[in-house]
Amino acid sequence: MGGERIEFEGVEGLRVGRFGSHLNTTCILYRLGSLVVDTGPPNQWPTVRGFLRERAVDRVIVTHHHEDHSGNLGAIDAELNAEVCAPAAGVEPLAEGFRLRGYQRIVWGTPGPVRSRPLPDTIPLADGGALRPLPAPGHSADMTCFFEPSRGWLFSGDLYIASRTRYLRADESIGDTIESLRQMLELDFGTLFCSHRGPISSGKEALRRKLAFLEELCGRVAELHARNRSEKEIARELLGREDWMRWVSFGHFSKRNLVLGCLDEAVGTSRGGS
Ligand SMILES: [Zn+2]
Repeated sequence: MGGERIEFEGVEGLRVGRFGSHLNTTCILYRLGSLVVDTGPPNQWPTVRGFLRERAVDRVIVTHHHEDHSGNLGAIDAELNAEVCAPAAGVEPLAEGFRLRGYQRIVWGTPGPVRSRPLPDTIPLADGGALRPLPAPGHSADMTCFFEPSRGWLFSGDLYIASRTRYLRADESIGDTIESLRQMLELDFGTLFCSHRGPISSGKEALRRKLAFLEELCGRVAELHARNRSEKEIARELLGREDWMRWVSFGHFSKRNLVLGCLDEAVGTSRGGS
């Protein structure tokens, strides 16, 4: 069975992906007793199924509808006797399908449609604690974090990934991400369970670093914009040249998108994204 096993503070994890262990092409699912958070991408179903069949699964919840997180929800619904839940805003795209670009189909595979239930307000854990779903839009409109106050855990989906972001998806909102980071930083947590980076014991520090980085970047982008520099020039000066990420994603992930997102946040220009 493939996949890299993770064990942290009693939470099990499985990192799966088609192309080795690279951060951007793998995704982690976490298991807390009979509850599973996120499902991995559809092309990793045999590995994910092996992991899930190790013990009974009562409920599977996803942080957002993106295919690397929700891609096996349909297969789980069909094969396991588990309740499948998604953020309310993700239920419709999951049931009706959403646009996938060529690179996404190659890296992650194509998920089948699934009828999921909206997340309940609180999700009890077998040993007494509970997860509280908290909206954290920005990366996607339905992005949701799960907070466990008694342990001080935050399952952060794709809110974090890295402190120093270099790229942005064309459909992400920097302003919403900044607001979500501020809101999550109000919570009393220690460990961040990131879907790509893995468990981070100084999770609050990590979120703070990301917030500070984005706020500073927005300020510097606005400064250069005021001096009539083009988006391309600003991107090159602050983030370096575009690289393979832009080419393989046909512009869906790019440094230019990050500059546009910062401009949108700092000076309210409308996004042209590709
Ligand atoms: Zn995502």
